[in-house]
Amino acid sequence: MRANNSTGVLPSLGISNTERRIPSGVFDFEQMVQSLHELFERDRQIASQPNSTRCGICYLHFLLSELQYQNEGFYVCPGCSQTLDHQDVPMLHKQQKL
Ligand SMILES: [Zn+2]
Repeated sequence: MRANNSTGVLPSLGISNTERRIPSGVFDFEQMVQSLHELFERDRQIASQPNSTRCGICYLHFLLSELQYQNEGFYVCPGCSQTLDHQDVPMLHKQQKL
C-alpha cells in the first residue's frame, strides 16, 4: 500500500520533454499492441509444443530446430543470434574459470 502517491507522479515538465517525444505517425501504439498480441499468441503456441524451449536472451519460445546452443550455456533464436554476431551481451558473458 502506498500511502504517499505523490512521489510516483511524474512532474509535468511538458516543454523539456517535448524534444524527446517520438513524432506521431512513427510510433503507432495500437499497432504495437496488436503485434505484441500476435507475438505472445505465437509464443504460447510454440511453448505448447514438446520440442521447444526459450531463447536465453529474448525469452521467447522457439523450436529446438530453430535455436542454436551456445557454448556459454544458453539457447539463442535466429534473431538474437544475429545480434550476438554484432555485439557482446555483457550480462550473459561468463568468464572462464581460472
Ligand atoms: Zn531470442
